[in-house]
Amino acid sequence: MAMADMREPIETGCPDGFQYMHPTMRRNFGQWKYHDDPQPGVLRHVAYSGDEVFTVKAGTQRILDVFSLRTLCKIGDDFADGYIRFTIRSNIEFIVDDAAKVEPLVKALTDAGFVVGGTKNSVTSLSHTQGWLHCDIPGTDASGVVKSMMDELIGEFTAWNMPNRVHITTSCCQINCGGQGDIAINVQHTKPPKIDHNLVANVCERPSVVARCPVAAIRPAMVNGKPSLEVDEKKCICCGACFPPCPPMQINDAEHSKLAVWIGGNHSNARGKPTFQKLVASGIPNNPPRWPEATAIVKRILKEYKAGAKDWERINEWVERIGWPRFFEVTGLPFTKYHVDNWRGSRASLNASTHIRF
Ligand code: SF4
Ligand code: SF4
Repeated sequence: MAMADMREPIETGCPDGFQYMHPTMRRNFGQWKYHDDPQPGVLRHVAYSGDEVFTVKAGTQRILDVFSLRTLCKIGDDFADGYIRFTIRSNIEFIVDDAAKVEPLVKALTDAGFVVGGTKNSVTSLSHTQGWLHCDIPGTDASGVVKSMMDELIGEFTAWNMPNRVHITTSCCQINCGGQGDIAINVQHTKPPKIDHNLVANVCERPSVVARCPVAAIRPAMVNGKPSLEVDEKKCICCGACFPPCPPMQINDAEHSKLAVWIGGNHSNARGKPTFQKLVASGIPNNPPRWPEATAIVKRILKEYKAGAKDWERINEWVERIGWPRFFEVTGLPFTKYHVDNWRGSRASLNASTHIRF
């Protein structure tokens, strides 16, 4: 692109999405009659005008290298109408307005090594947080966990085997980004932070670290004649919130930082309130590069969900129907003391744990 053609970046707000829409979608905006699913990975939207658009969905590795991105764009130019979009779960969608373009597009994607699927009652791409690549506080490599799990769940991505759609998410710390999911794999620190007292005074703004702790477990202290911090370990809930503003409060630990699996998180929709995730497995080894223990638990939950849920029940609805004791029975997951929320501030959150309702 010649310099004269380049524009100044606009730094505020997101750009107007209409300019990137397929012209048939623009023309029929707000005038869609229905949509259906002709085959796994393909959606068809039919407008009142009689126009149709077909959306072909493929999974990507999310952290995309330039080669893959160029390959996907070239497929878009050669086999679609030059329009693509990424979904929030890192799938790519190509939009065409002619049924005859669908099969060549699916073939081009498959030949290039991408997997078409992730629609309707499938397990769609796992969404993940930034992990070691972008963030400074992760306790695991979220994208690695996703890659390992998706390798084993690929058959569930390309088929419509599940009672309803399944969204799986990962989070590589306990406190910041990451999301609700039918199944969520989250980091779980199990020991209070270890403090490198030689570094605290050089690196950390101590009042903001003290303020950061949700249970007031940190206080200023003088150690070896230097200003530092100390942690009341009886109070500490091992959340890791002190680590981002003060890296010398190291909480990541190869042995004691674990993974936990939570299930049943759903956003609200037109018919129901949001539901909150509940812990079902804790203390799972954080075991790169393939995380086999966590993957085995996710597969076990999916197997029982597939076998036991009624059509269109999401995971949380299935568990609500059969009851939590039965869930632990059928999945064979142990119910331990770690499932009980015994934090003294938990009076407000007991309704979110699996063991009690009032
Ligand atoms: S989940 Fe935590 S560690 Fe992972 S990217 Fe988000 S803020 Fe960083
Ligand atoms: S890990 Fe959490 S609870 Fe423990 S000292 Fe740090 S901020 Fe406080």
